[in-house]
Amino acid sequence: MRIDILTLFPEMCDTVLNESILGRAQKAGKVAFFTHQIRDYSADKHGRVDDAPYGGGMGMIMQPQPIYDCFQALCKELGTRPHLIYLSPQGKTLTQQRVRALSELENLALLCGHYEGVDERVIEELVDEEISIGDYVLTGGELPALVLCDAVARMLPGVLSDTACFTEESHFSGLLEYAQYTRPPEWRGRKVPDVLLSGHHANIEAFRKEDALRRTEKKRPDLLKEENRHD
Ligand code: SAM
Repeated sequence: MRIDILTLFPEMCDTVLNESILGRAQKAGKVAFFTHQIRDYSADKHGRVDDAPYGGGMGMIMQPQPIYDCFQALCKELGTRPHLIYLSPQGKTLTQQRVRALSELENLALLCGHYEGVDERVIEELVDEEISIGDYVLTGGELPALVLCDAVARMLPGVLSDTACFTEESHFSGLLEYAQYTRPPEWRGRKVPDVLLSGHHANIEAFRKEDALRRTEKKRPDLLKEENRHD
């Protein structure tokens, strides 16, 4: 899978994408990330990419032309038109189910807004989907784009050591994950549940299933409502 990020701050993205699991996944050819500097497509001789909002108001708005030209150049380079997502606090909130569906695409392009956002006309003209990472506002779309890249990439074959790494995790089946413990068996008077030390696989599995349900009921009862179920 290839993910292209259109941004005014490519270095901010590159730093994160080249580290740790994502960096290793790129080196192993499991995923490819490319960042594109929108400013390089400015038709303005000073490289300007934003201007004041019509009608007045705070801040600056990213102009449509550099974003449009940047995306057209990307389509030309790829020889195809990737699904374009605009990271926006007005989008649908990202879920594990959406992440899973996006991880099945060959190409994905992410548009990062900055300042007060982007001119509405370029959203209408190009954007296939708007995605939010939560009901709060950040200074730019770079962190949300990185969140999406991370969540999508770890579902690709071979990025994690085993698919169980994500299929047993919170949200994959609609439940939260069971409690996890490691050595020592007792710490500050708190003991690891006996069953986990028993070596009895069927009992361990049953305990974990129950614990996942118990924790979901306690911490996120909303996930158990019929309309939110997807298992
Ligand atoms: N004026 C916009 C509004 O009220 O809807 C907010 C603009 S925000 C300050 C600047 C950029 O950050 C947006 O264009 C978007 O790309 C990104 N952004 C901010 N919060 C976000 C969120 N919760 N999810 C995804 N992207 C977000």
